[in-house]
Amino acid sequence: MSICDVRTARSLEEALVLTAEGWLPLAGGTDLVPRMKHGLLTGARVVIVRGLKELHGVHTTDTGLVVGACTTIADLCRSSACPPWLGGACAQIAGPRVRELATVGGALLQERRCRYYNRPVLWRTASGACLRTGGDRCLAGGDRCCATQRSLLSTVLVAVSASVVISRGAEERSVLLEDLYGPEAGAWRAGGIIRSVSISRMAEAEGKVAVEWIRRRASIDYHDLVVAGASRAGSPHEVSVTVGAAVPYPRRIVLPSPAPGGAIRSAATLIPSAQSGRLSPAYLRHAAVVLAGRVIARVAP
Ligand SMILES: Cc1cc2nc3c(=O)[nH]c(=O)nc-3n(C[C@H](O)[C@H](O)[C@H](O)COP(=O)(O)OP(=O)(O)OC[C@H]3O[C@@H](n4cnc5c(N)ncnc54)[C@H](O)[C@@H]3O)c2cc1C
Ligand code: SF4
Repeated sequence: MSICDVRTARSLEEALVLTAEGWLPLAGGTDLVPRMKHGLLTGARVVIVRGLKELHGVHTTDTGLVVGACTTIADLCRSSACPPWLGGACAQIAGPRVRELATVGGALLQERRCRYYNRPVLWRTASGACLRTGGDRCLAGGDRCCATQRSLLSTVLVAVSASVVISRGAEERSVLLEDLYGPEAGAWRAGGIIRSVSISRMAEAEGKVAVEWIRRRASIDYHDLVVAGASRAGSPHEVSVTVGAAVPYPRRIVLPSPAPGGAIRSAATLIPSAQSGRLSPAYLRHAAVVLAGRVIARVAP
């Protein structure tokens, strides 16, 4: 067991003090616990935040939808406030049992995965250390770590320009989810607690969000590639396309509408050239363009 201490937070304030000291928040544990079992969290201290009532609930406000970070994916799907496009996407995450545990905040900050990293310790020892485990090379062939965040939810929420309220110590800020994945927000990602996610009313328009994906087996396997498209009321001449699961964090591009073939092909450039998952970069690039064409056809005004 590589965790050195576990506590259950009695209040949000206590959780914020602990995370500011480097404790990791644990919500559903479906991402954190397997990493612990694989010896990837040596010496980590964990604070359980799942029971904090401030982090639960799905509410409609004047400006849109607000989802507490510890709301489970299953509870979000069941909520009458959840728009059909979001409920439909969430129903594609893992299987029913995982969705009952996995939370929205955990889905957005789940660790980036790699076939050389998310392995038992003996497997990793046999193949040697990589950049992420103290070695001097990337076993996937990259010049930097290109492990990918396999989250369907974060891809969809970046596509609709969702924002998150995140606290770190005594500070609190609301940031676009897309910006939370930028390099300058690394400290907030690592040391903060997401309190809620907001989706603006404009993004809720039915039929304006489309999601396509590649996944080997439903329920069991993580997504290999997710492409989400969104158009906005009031912006008839553009459409946004977000590529996720095959990239370190979801990347969004805004294309003119109607989108020329050359513009759609730019989705391929987002895929890294090193192979950290089971599918080759060449295949993923081709598939990204195909799926981008499909989502654009479904959402273009
Ligand atoms: C078998 C299986 C299949 C899966 N298949 C898919 C799939 O098909 N598609 C897909 O998109 N995902 C898939 N997943 C991933 C799943 O969605 C995530 O594991 C889950 O959403 C993580 O949520 P959690 O609450 O369990 O997070 P935890 O394991 O509790 O935490 C995950 C990370 O987020 C951090 N964290 C959690 N909550 C917060 C918070 N409020 N603020 C700040 N940091 C926080 C933790 O510190 C940790 O680093 C699968 C998982 C499993 C186990
Ligand atoms: S992408 Fe490379 S550096 Fe990153 S976890 Fe995989 S092998 Fe290690």
